[in-house]
Amino acid sequence: MEENKTVEGGCLCGAIRYAIRGEIRNGYHCHCVDCRRSSAAPYVTWAFCKLEDYEILTGIPAKIEHADRVRSFCSKCGTPLTFQDPKKPDDLDVTVCSMDNPDLFPPNGHIWLEDKVSWVNLNDGLTQHYGYPKPQT
Ligand SMILES: [Zn+2]
Ligand SMILES: [Zn+2]
Repeated sequence: MEENKTVEGGCLCGAIRYAIRGEIRNGYHCHCVDCRRSSAAPYVTWAFCKLEDYEILTGIPAKIEHADRVRSFCSKCGTPLTFQDPKKPDDLDVTVCSMDNPDLFPPNGHIWLEDKVSWVNLNDGLTQHYGYPKPQT
């Protein structure tokens, strides 16, 4: 049993700061085209928490709804912060690299390989999935 410590993070410019006070599950590198576009990076690394455990400490994130899912980001500097699927209203995906210490949540694998950019070479030994892996409960 590990005690849940508060994890904090924020955006590049500092306008948004957040805290997560609950369990955080290690997630995935997501290669989907929506993550790629919204971050302008080849893939985005996510971790998972409960929506109720996520608290904004400073600022008001901007939100964009795309493909029925809501992404939040800093309206001043553009840092991607969260992803929410209305089909899972209690859950929140958080960008690991907006956390103050991204080393805490190494991803379990790569997902949405069908959208992967061709010059990204994966040889890190992590699992690779087309689409999203079946939820582990
Ligand atoms: Zn910002
Ligand atoms: Zn994605």
